[in-house]
Amino acid sequence: MTLSQLINELIRYGIDKKLLSKLDYNYVANRLIAIYNEKKFEKLDVKPRDIHSILADLAKFAYDKGIIESNDVVTFDNFKAKLMDELLPKPSEVIRVFKDYYNISPKHATNYLYDLAINSNYIQAKRNSQNESWSGLTKYGLLELTINLAKPEKDPKLIALQKSISYGYPKCHLCVENEGYTGHIGYDSKANMRIIPITLNGENWRFQYSPYAYYPEHSIVLNEEHVPMVIDDNTFIKLIDFLDLFPHYFVGSNAGLTIVGGSILSHEHFQAGNYKFPIESAKEVFIGKYKSVSISRLIWPMSTIRISSDNKLELIDYTSRVLNQWREYKNKDLLIINSNDEIHNTITPIARKNDNIYTLDLILRNNYTNDEYPDGVFHVHPKYYNLKKENLGLIEAMGLGVLPPRLKQEFKLLEEILKGNHSLMNNPAIQVHKEWLETLQADYNHNYEVTKFIREEAVKVFEKILECAGVFKQDSTGIKHFEEFIKNTINMK
Ligand SMILES: [Zn+2]
Repeated sequence: MTLSQLINELIRYGIDKKLLSKLDYNYVANRLIAIYNEKKFEKLDVKPRDIHSILADLAKFAYDKGIIESNDVVTFDNFKAKLMDELLPKPSEVIRVFKDYYNISPKHATNYLYDLAINSNYIQAKRNSQNESWSGLTKYGLLELTINLAKPEKDPKLIALQKSISYGYPKCHLCVENEGYTGHIGYDSKANMRIIPITLNGENWRFQYSPYAYYPEHSIVLNEEHVPMVIDDNTFIKLIDFLDLFPHYFVGSNAGLTIVGGSILSHEHFQAGNYKFPIESAKEVFIGKYKSVSISRLIWPMSTIRISSDNKLELIDYTSRVLNQWREYKNKDLLIINSNDEIHNTITPIARKNDNIYTLDLILRNNYTNDEYPDGVFHVHPKYYNLKKENLGLIEAMGLGVLPPRLKQEFKLLEEILKGNHSLMNNPAIQVHKEWLETLQADYNHNYEVTKFIREEAVKVFEKILECAGVFKQDSTGIKHFEEFIKNTINMK
């Protein structure tokens, strides 16, 4: 195909998706040919293919013509983002339209921004659809797993190269300076991202979508300043302010400490979205009341206090009590080690609003390490590293385990072995699963569908993994100490 044909396809796609107006046709076409150092353009009547095919051909064209010097996945993705950015309105225009929709309803506004994020290929729907997800029943209710195949696979050389190149701009992948930045081989671009300014607790924050979409309308809420993650009294105010702006979304924060926090500790942010996570359906055991605030503990692998009230001030007042008492709590017998010199205790909070009732789940966390568990006493224990080594962040704590991409291939090998192909036993990729494989082989019934069997067994392991992170275990001793802690926060004896 000629460059003119491809550019016509791209622009017609953009008009169909309402990214740009017909009035912008010539203007955008001329800007696009300039990227290719092309001197002429022919307007053609073409029917656009899907956006992934159009962009793939446009990126290859640029590579063949020497416009981009490398055909690695980062350079190609960055170039595609730059092309899409040419089709999009400037940030101020997106903000204006978002506000117009917001005046109709918050849901209209988020629908607009979400559609824009998908149609602009910022959320790569095709790539994300490769994620494999399933759920399984446990004693805590349904738990969910997903093998994350949405992030492009980078070969190790490219990863090493990326680490070696840094201009220190933007400071991190969450910073507001990413908007429109075309990136380079050492930095993934988000040129086609658009973000919305919002105010939380009087501070300037921004709202955007996550390109990886681990769940529906997966959004990121970030501080306009590059300041570190923190859980303090203000966090709860900010979460509740967010719910008042977008009551149809949940919002939660990762903890601000290593091991129990998420992958980015350097920039304060929350995650939000339009999804009911397994934790929301967890059974509650009512403990008592603090003013208007109703307080329960959840029957959930990670120690969670659920509180609800229609009174924001009393709710925030109580969350401060929990946070401050938890930051001082220690219990040697339960290995909850904590000291004033180095605070190991923090909270992973999640907030939701239904009608006028706010509900918060406060998940108690501790990041202490010892000789037996150098990666964390309340972290995934090493015997489960075959499935997951990474931190149990907010998303896992809510009952959705995000598993590494390697497992797609490894599960296939395990399936083959269970079906009787024993020659695969020495495959290097299987070695991490040796112990697990023995249990799988012992329990597998050949009449049962093998893919389903492995997936269900993986859910059982995920249940155990979450239990590792529970500071108060779900046994009589753990529950006794957990309830004592909660009663102390409400001055109940
Ligand atoms: Zn940053």
